[in-house]
Amino acid sequence: MIKSLLIANRGEIACRIIRTARRLGIRTIAVYSDADTQALHVRQAHEAVHIGPSPARESYLVGERIIAAAQQSGAEAIHPGYGFLSENAEFAQSVLDAGLVWVGPRPASITAMGLKDAAKKLMAAAGVPVTPGYMGENQEPSFLAEEAGKIGYPVLIKAVAGGGGKGMRLVENAVDFIDALASCQREASASFGNAHVLIEKYIQRPRHIEVQVFGDSHGNIVHLFERDCSLQRRHQKVIEEAPAPGMNDDTRASLCAAAVQAAKAVDYVGAGTIEFIADGSEGLRADRIWFMEMNTRLQVEHPVTEEITGVDLVEWQLRVASGEALPKRQEELAINGHAMEARLYAEDPAKGFLPSIGTLELLQIGGGEGGRIDTGVCQGGEVSPFYDPMIAKVIAHGASREQAREQLAAMLAGSAVWPVKTNASFLVKALAHPAFVAGDVDTGLIGRDGEAMAEPPVPSAVTLTKAAQKLSWHVDQPGFRLNAARVRAAPFLLDGDDVEIELTGQGSLNPEAAVFVTEAGQAWQLTRWRHHAAHGGAIGDGAILSPMPGRIIAVEVEQGQTVTKGQKLLTLEAMKMEHTLTAPFDGMVAELSAAVGAQVQVEALLARIVAPDETETK
Ligand code: ADP
Ligand code: ADP
Ligand code: MG
Repeated sequence: MIKSLLIANRGEIACRIIRTARRLGIRTIAVYSDADTQALHVRQAHEAVHIGPSPARESYLVGERIIAAAQQSGAEAIHPGYGFLSENAEFAQSVLDAGLVWVGPRPASITAMGLKDAAKKLMAAAGVPVTPGYMGENQEPSFLAEEAGKIGYPVLIKAVAGGGGKGMRLVENAVDFIDALASCQREASASFGNAHVLIEKYIQRPRHIEVQVFGDSHGNIVHLFERDCSLQRRHQKVIEEAPAPGMNDDTRASLCAAAVQAAKAVDYVGAGTIEFIADGSEGLRADRIWFMEMNTRLQVEHPVTEEITGVDLVEWQLRVASGEALPKRQEELAINGHAMEARLYAEDPAKGFLPSIGTLELLQIGGGEGGRIDTGVCQGGEVSPFYDPMIAKVIAHGASREQAREQLAAMLAGSAVWPVKTNASFLVKALAHPAFVAGDVDTGLIGRDGEAMAEPPVPSAVTLTKAAQKLSWHVDQPGFRLNAARVRAAPFLLDGDDVEIELTGQGSLNPEAAVFVTEAGQAWQLTRWRHHAAHGGAIGDGAILSPMPGRIIAVEVEQGQTVTKGQKLLTLEAMKMEHTLTAPFDGMVAELSAAVGAQVQVEALLARIVAPDETETK
């Protein structure tokens, strides 16, 4: 067995690999860029080597630097994780040439499966059913259009060098073909440096079913059953599970046999995934499942396979790379229960899924519901703009699909991250979609029904009241004079926005300045708007107090100015967020003590608004 391992990756997958390596007594060496100086994978490894500036092109994608880091630290082997250099045959070859162990398939296998057209031709020759289409050399637009007509619309144009759901165009009608081809080729040459495309029949009610395969250097190849990754957004996986809902034993047997046959055709060594596309319009049938591509690496969603088989796939990778035979034979592998994984991203579904970057001031994943969490960040860490914004994989395992689904939903709903936004609430809603609950998912589900899932959640009145009482209101002794007259609405700030919250009872202020409100996988910060205890629910005296310590970054009004209710008065920057303070009612700015750039303490008087009748009496 190897004794030391350099992990040429970052984030959750680097941490995942380090975990198994440490358990096996292997010395681990992390690599990191400028942006990752404080990253979790750097802290978890025995040693870490700096490999360059933040952009991946200047660090994680520079093969020579990684090999130099391995030599400098005396690492015996290199594990590439997924993404980055994991499917780069040239890099794999340089690792071998440098006398190091490559934890992955032979470079020739990577090359054989690297381009989608060549892979399909190879698979067709090996007798594996492939998605019908054109995969030849001729790239003449008029010729390709003719081929598309022969295949029959709708068709999919795919960059042969594509990956990660990029470089694909669905074409519904012949009139749109030429434009779609040109745009696909442009994207392909910009993203992958290769404009070559293939044309495929677009499968109806498509389901993405893939098979985990594993080979060793002694000629053994096994499969570890299938995963279903049909819940996708823009051809990218969102939730994955194993086994596939609705899969029967005969279909599974023929699908897994095809996968093993595919792996044998390229003398496969190590962990690999054969991806298939299935026409799910009449359930899963062996004659309606076709080879799509092979990923010659560990897959993001490998944990669901680990959960149902009890196999640590990274351990198998390290054993196979060390020359050992596969730890188990096919007959020794079986499916136990059901597992489901969700990819938790730092992104804002309400803003078109834009990455949400910044410091993770609050990071709670899983809500104490058990299950497995594979993460690469910790509270206080950063989500940087340089890399993929996935912050964790949340994984549930149960005796039944329904148990796994419920646990995963509970883990996500109990998660709380702030001020970075995540897709947790989107995932909770996706898991509750009736078609998903029924196991009847095709890749178009989110495209059709995703809008409602992306709507930002709002905390319920009950949750807000609880948080607000914690923040600023002590209820009188239990059982003492709690009556309807004691219910009042008081103003607070929820992530800087005005919100009225009902408080019950009477009491005194708590000095705490801010609390987190968490619900449905989302977190907000609730702050006191100003004192209100004396006013019993009345609007108050118009004093604009700083809700927390911070800095004034904008003042929108002048002393003596007339303002209307809700008008922006000034902006405070606090805890890395902007909070806009607005006029509580129509009136006049009677006092203004805030100046741009000033640091202010919590409760500092920034301005005072007076109502028109008060002005008259003065
Ligand atoms: P990538 O390399 O980007 O992963 P794939 O070829 O694996 O590309 O396709 C990505 C996704 O696109 C699939 O998971 C599936 O949702 C969709 N897709 C690919 N080919 C087809 C097809 N022929 N018909 C319908 N959907 C397809
Ligand atoms: P899989 O096919 O393994 O399910 P995807 O194709 O969706 O996964 O995602 C793999 C891709 O995700 C990589 O090719 C890379 O572009 C991106 N990626 C995500 N997270 C990382 C990471 N931590 N490091 C490198 N690449 C990543
Ligand atoms: Mg794919």
